[in-house]
Order: sequence, then C-alpha cells, then structure tokens
Amino acid sequence: MPVTKPFLPPREEYVALLDDVWERNWLTNNGPLVQQLENELEDYLDVPYLNLVSNGTIALQIAIKALELEGEVITTPFSYVATTSSIVWEGGEPVFVDIDPDTLNINPALIEEAITNKTSGILATHVFGNPCDIDTIQQIADRHSLKVIYDAAHCFGTKYKGESVYNYGDISTASFHATKLFHTVEGGAVITKDPALNQKIQQMRNFGHAGPGHFDGIGINGKNSEFHAAMGICNLKYIDNVLERRKKQSYVYESLLNDLTVKTQQVKPETVYNYAYYPVIFKNEQTALSVKKRLEEEDIYSRRYFYPSLCELDYVRSNETDISVDISKRILCLPLFHDLKETDQTKIITTIKESLTKVLL
Ligand SMILES: *Cc1c(COP(=O)(O)O)cnc(C)c1O
Repeated sequence: MPVTKPFLPPREEYVALLDDVWERNWLTNNGPLVQQLENELEDYLDVPYLNLVSNGTIALQIAIKALELEGEVITTPFSYVATTSSIVWEGGEPVFVDIDPDTLNINPALIEEAITNKTSGILATHVFGNPCDIDTIQQIADRHSLKVIYDAAHCFGTKYKGESVYNYGDISTASFHATKLFHTVEGGAVITKDPALNQKIQQMRNFGHAGPGHFDGIGINGKNSEFHAAMGICNLKYIDNVLERRKKQSYVYESLLNDLTVKTQQVKPETVYNYAYYPVIFKNEQTALSVKKRLEEEDIYSRRYFYPSLCELDYVRSNETDISVDISKRILCLPLFHDLKETDQTKIITTIKESLTKVLL
C-alpha cells in the first residue's frame, strides 16, 4: 500500500482527446487543450488568471522573478525542498522563520523580527493545504512594502473566507504533479489577480517573447504540453469525487485515531479544507521511525513529510527553527489516495496501535 497513488481517468477519455491532438498536429506552445484547461481551471477555482506551467517548481521560480524578489526572502523551513531551492536558484537568500506547532505553517508572530533592510518578500507554504495566517502576513507585508508569494502546491480545492486560497498574496503557485490531489502528470500554475503582473508571467513562461522575433525581458521555458493538458481536462471531471473521497477517508482516520495521543494538524477557521494529506505527529523521532518500520513490515508505506527541515540543507544559512526541526523528525503522512478502502485504513491504524503499545512496553 503506497502513501499516495495518482488518480487516472478512464483511458478512453484520455485517448479521445489525443485523437484530436493527432488531427491538429499541435503538440505544445500554448495549444488549444492548454488554453481549454486554463479556462476550465479559472472557472472551477474562480480565480482571475491562471497560467499553466511545466511544474510547480518552475511556477515558484517564475513567481520570484516576476516579483523581482532579491536579497533576503522570508520563508518557512517546513515545506518541500523546492520552496527553498527556488529562492536560492533565483539568487536570493532564504531567511527561515519557525512554524506554529499546531498549524504547521510559518508563525507570523516571528516574521517581523526577521525583516531587515535587505528583505524583499515572504514566500510561505500553505502546508498540506492548510491556509497560513493570511491576514496577519498581509498586514506585515503592507507595513514593510514586501511582496507575498504562497507556495500553494497542496491547495487544490482549498477555500479561505469563501474564495480559492490561490487568490491570496501577490502570486500563488500550484503543483499539478502526479502525486498531488489534482494532476496533469507533470505541471503547475502561477496564479495572480493583477493583470499587468499576469502579462509579465505569460511572457516569462514563454522565453520572454512579446511577439515573433520580439523579446521583452528575460524569460524561461515554462510551457506545458497538450498531452499534459489533456490529462488535466480528464481529471478535472472527477475532482469533486476525489475531494469527497479524501474528506471521508480523513474522517475515518480521525475516528480510528481518536483514542490515541498523537497530534494532527490544526486547520485554520473559515477554511474549506481539501484533505490533501493525513499527517500524524508522534511523541518523538524514535516512535515515528518504529511505527514507519512496523508499517513497512505489513507492506504499508508512510512518508516522512516534510523531512528534513529545510534549514538543514547544505546550501543555506541555518537559522534557529527548533519547532520545524523537531516536528519534521516525528511526523509521518499516512496513505491517502482515492481508492484507499476503509478496511485498509483500519489495518493501518491497528498496525500503528500495535507498534505504539510495543514502544510503551
Ligand atoms: C510538490 C511540491 C512542490 C514542487 O512541485 P513540482 O510540480 O513537483 O515541481 C513545491 N512545493 C511544495 C510544497 C510541494 O509539495
């Protein structure tokens, strides 16, 4: 039993779209399926401008470049490596601010003391699809004239205060990688409400082309293909079902776990959560590792996610972020995918309980 499993639509639906691709012989470069998927996603999510790109990492890099972040960028150490590597790749310096132990998101109360005259922006992750303290972060950003990017890789379907969480910050980025809730095999998106910024993002995604033979600023190849867009179009038809399943499965985990003293994540109020992951925090690293091992003996795979804490990377300057370091050592994400059965979940939790009693003895 894997920790995650990509959703695949009925094969004939995908093949039907490919027949059209063969007919048109238009494979990439902002083709009709890419445009269709962008329109469908803008409608489904109710976001003004969504630019499909080749992955969630290039989405972050384009966001950093488009907002001209340089010098120090305040960020979270509790995220996937791409959040930090994008800052460094774009020539910035990540400054880590520790997380809140309950929400697992960047702790806004610690942001202001990390701001210096070199700070240009804040890049925060909505961890496991749980919105950050968006209002406080925006107030801080406004007070110090900082740009805000949200790494919203986990956030497909999450709403905060009645609208898509992608609508917050100057830019939000999404990942549509195969392991994510909604996917295009490989893919991602750069989302903004600002039309001028959107224009810049569109050009940057396409080498800086402002027309044939005309370039306006530096760009990169961040385009996605008709084959990827076709997968997204097929998957989008099933997304409500996928989201509904995730919610039910999460409730099953919750009820099975209720007599255990493990911690889960506290989701922000006023949120429609997408149940993207099921993280469980154990009392220490040794317990987490023995549970993981015991599960593997039953052919059940959990994942240390996120691990390691990103301030431990060898290409960053480490700040003191004790909570992130501590939690990353004792967190496991449990298997969660669309066809995970309740009997599987019972087995997973029974195995965890067995393992925990052994640890106590
Ligand atoms: C998956 C992920 C990314 C990277 O997205 P890719 O599409 O795999 O490049 C970035 N940040 C977070 C938090 C992620 O989970």
